[in-house]
Amino acid sequence: MSETKEFKAESKRLLEMMINSIYTHKEIFLRELISNASDAMDKLYFKTNNGDGEAISRSDMQITIEANKDDRKLIISDNGIGMTKEELENNLGTIAQSGSFAFKNENEKTEDVDIIGQFGVGFYSAFMVAKKVTVISKAYGSDEAYMWTSEGADGYTISEAEKDSHGTTITLDIKDNTDEENYDEYLTPYKIKELVKKYSDYIRYPIKMDVEHEKLKEGTGVDGKEPEYEKEIVNETLNSQIPIWKKSKSELKDEDYNQFYKDKFHDYSDPLLHIHSKTEGTATYSALLYIPQNAPYDYYSKNYEKGLQLYSSGVMIMEKCGDLLPDYFSFVKGLVDSEDLSLNISREMLQHDRQLKIIAKSIEKSIKNELKKLQKNDREKYEKFFETFGTQIKYGIYESYGMNKDELQDLLMFKSSNGGSTTLEEYVSRMKEDQKYIYFASGSSVSRIESLPQTELVRDKGYEILYLTDHVDEFCLQMMHDFDGKEYKSVSADDLGLETEEEKEEIKKEEEDNKSLFDFLTEKLNGKVKAVKLSQRLKNHPVCITSEGMLSVEMEKVLSAMPDNQGAKAEKVLEINPNHPIFGKLKSLYETDKDKVAEYADLLYSQALLIEGMPIENPVEFSNKLCEIMAQ
Ligand code: ADP
Repeated sequence: MSETKEFKAESKRLLEMMINSIYTHKEIFLRELISNASDAMDKLYFKTNNGDGEAISRSDMQITIEANKDDRKLIISDNGIGMTKEELENNLGTIAQSGSFAFKNENEKTEDVDIIGQFGVGFYSAFMVAKKVTVISKAYGSDEAYMWTSEGADGYTISEAEKDSHGTTITLDIKDNTDEENYDEYLTPYKIKELVKKYSDYIRYPIKMDVEHEKLKEGTGVDGKEPEYEKEIVNETLNSQIPIWKKSKSELKDEDYNQFYKDKFHDYSDPLLHIHSKTEGTATYSALLYIPQNAPYDYYSKNYEKGLQLYSSGVMIMEKCGDLLPDYFSFVKGLVDSEDLSLNISREMLQHDRQLKIIAKSIEKSIKNELKKLQKNDREKYEKFFETFGTQIKYGIYESYGMNKDELQDLLMFKSSNGGSTTLEEYVSRMKEDQKYIYFASGSSVSRIESLPQTELVRDKGYEILYLTDHVDEFCLQMMHDFDGKEYKSVSADDLGLETEEEKEEIKKEEEDNKSLFDFLTEKLNGKVKAVKLSQRLKNHPVCITSEGMLSVEMEKVLSAMPDNQGAKAEKVLEINPNHPIFGKLKSLYETDKDKVAEYADLLYSQALLIEGMPIENPVEFSNKLCEIMAQ
């Protein structure tokens, strides 16, 4: 006797969506069915190991997959708890009370298929690939088996059936190929294996399938005989079952972690560092995180997508969960497994999931701690890390307008005049007693910065200088403003805080005495500089360029190289060394030959630009003038 029934209204709508799904991840149906099977076996285990009947061991349970290409059937069986007639009706005839329930609360606009999205909605996802679904189930402890069949939204039928032992067998009549979709592949062992590996590798029960292999016929292929092949069926276990992150650290060697990383994240090199943690408390999760040795080839491109794999009790629910990583740690690879997350959770729900936010915070903290540990214990490795990914961390500070400063500043490293690299803390610990500022100089390389005239005075005082060679460096320091109350100061800044009052007075007087010369020079430079001044910082070099205001010459260089360059310019100042013979020369020429002074102004300005690594306006004219002077 069989009864045909209609689906409840919400189920019907959901089902229609599944049947007509244009979603590209139709393949998740297999994950959903396997997870249900695994749950059914868990239930049986708990039931029979809590005094109800004879205890059944986990090792007796398994999931089998059978693919039959000829009659287009894919069969997934388990020997779990099974379902009674009522359960078949209640569980498959309506939307289950659990994860899928959320769907009911969604409003009309969920017609766009995104809710099916990456998370699926359990059993019904079978209808994305099947035109007919048949479930035969026998509940544990019952003598009767029942069959549930449905060809879609019209309804389902329940009838009595035959089944030897408890458990559930689900048969999918796979849809015919269409122009857009190749359903055939869900019947090929290759694809099925791939899907099991991808989504269900850590299901704790074996997932088995008969796979056909070719093997060499015995006695052929040797002693000069032609090789002949015959078919052989091998019952393969498709999943590896125990997730490495569930094992205890003491069981695992570095090689195990590294091998897993290379397999899973497709890298040829070992990772630089792995972080394996199990956390219990407000959030319960295991995480296995890796810092790669090299940046992925697309790391600094728009195509790079950050994120960790997200598992719910060993089943993958998302391949790249971006919400688990802040942008400044976007280089971290790895996965998170939590029992607190529902398998059937939609992407939108996940974004607002409190549990996920707590996990993300906790992960961020542990990455930071591990990096600090590395910085302390294995400096060489840390420096390599920072060379590869440090820019990202600096961007993290810059882009948040310094809001992440407290989180991240301890991780920063800079080259410095001390030789080698330094952290800010180390720099400050070496500061001289009378030193007010953390000094820095910018340039394209350490050797270039070392020869900058602007560094002379600071160096003379014996103060250490941070060498900023990364584009974002100066922007980042500007956002941070200070470290431990010590402000950052460019060696090119107006006031280095090094000159005595007397020295300042002296320079001021000299400038006043030669006011008309400086006005003349400024005028002749025709808007290229804001002012020409006498320098306090130059010792041996004749000239240099410094800047006033927020934007330094180095920052101008960076900005002008950007695609959306808005032509921002530093307010440049041409500084002349009062103790250099060239200043005397300018003074005397100003009395006798003003045209020459104008010419020299141009030359000096061009030289200062060259020292800065800036382009000069007219290199040909510059070189001709220089030669003219040489020929005099
Ligand atoms: P969910 O798994 O989120 O509860 P599903 O739609 O996937 O939703 O499944 C509905 C219910 O049907 C499950 O909660 C379970 O009780 C039952 N079920 C599904 N598949 C099986 C199975 N293989 N064995 C036993 N029960 C099952």
